[in-house]
Amino acid sequence: MSDVIQLLPDHVANQIAAGEVVQRPASVIKELLENSIDAKAGKIQVIIKDAGKTLIQIIDNGVGMSNTDSRMSFERHATSKIKIADDLFSLKTKGFRGEALASIAAIAHVELKTKHEDDEIGSCIKVEGSKVVAQDPCVTPKGTCISVKNLFYNIPARRNFLKSDNVESRHIIDEFQRVALAHPDISFSLIHNSSELFQLPASNYRQRITNIFGGKTNEKLVPVEEETEIVKISGFVGKPEFAKKSRGEQFFFVNDRFIKSPYLNHAVQASFEGLLKDRSYPSYFLYLNVDPKSIDINIHPTKTEIKFDDEHSLYAILKSAIKHSLGQFNVAPLLDFER
Ligand code: ADP
Ligand code: MG
Repeated sequence: MSDVIQLLPDHVANQIAAGEVVQRPASVIKELLENSIDAKAGKIQVIIKDAGKTLIQIIDNGVGMSNTDSRMSFERHATSKIKIADDLFSLKTKGFRGEALASIAAIAHVELKTKHEDDEIGSCIKVEGSKVVAQDPCVTPKGTCISVKNLFYNIPARRNFLKSDNVESRHIIDEFQRVALAHPDISFSLIHNSSELFQLPASNYRQRITNIFGGKTNEKLVPVEEETEIVKISGFVGKPEFAKKSRGEQFFFVNDRFIKSPYLNHAVQASFEGLLKDRSYPSYFLYLNVDPKSIDINIHPTKTEIKFDDEHSLYAILKSAIKHSLGQFNVAPLLDFER
């Protein structure tokens, strides 16, 4: 019998990889925002139309790319962020897999304008379904502007699977807020169908939280600070009387990356023991800094799950730090009849 195995053509491989990286418009926003942050942008603008289904545009004033790099950036496994396998154990950037732009360009119409600060003139490149359809020099400010149009235009099943504009824009706002909360030193804006949803000036953590969740949030926040050999914790928990019936405002960031951790969430909930009414959830905005060598973020392409070397110690430290903070702010336990 003759041999039957063949390597998949690049555009097919990219489309398959895209299925994992890009579930919906919000995933594109997340990847592009992370690229702008890795490019050291101080200002990032997000413009979307029809909940990102028609247009997602991100404009940054970061380092930009050279002409050759602008083309290379769409190749799969092409990255400027890691070079050798060892780099995987000490990641300092958001990206490293080199597959976001390749994946996005496999399933959308993408236009990239970019200029590196050392260059006189910028480059404009158009990619559709993994094919570069145009590349020209262009006049553009230092930084990068990337437009992603007609997401999933070539995967009708995926396009039909997208939810209503309301639901998709909620996902976008969630991603946007997570990234903005992790980087208060960067100014962010979000415009949807010409209306401005957020305009966040560069500031500090407390100010950023207040700018996003409203002025009244400020008085709810109890600062949490702790530093040990394995972790530096900072951030805020909401006072128990402001706890909500749903888990809306609960955020963990590890090394400036939003993560989901039911285990650490449990530590927070446990530190509020006796302070909360039944079935209510405290707000928290907790920033953990750990040695990049002590975590593994490469569990899933979307990188929202992390493996910690010493999860149990982290749990104990977090719980006691929050208890301590609540104690200092004289938060008294509820009496039994109040619950
Ligand atoms: P990764 O972020 O994992 O490296 P991407 O596919 O997201 O992979 O991006 C590929 C490369 O393109 C990056 O490593 C970076 O060099 C370049 N790049 C992407 N977006 C930007 C940007 N906004 N500014 C400057 N360079 C960028
Ligand atoms: Mg990236």
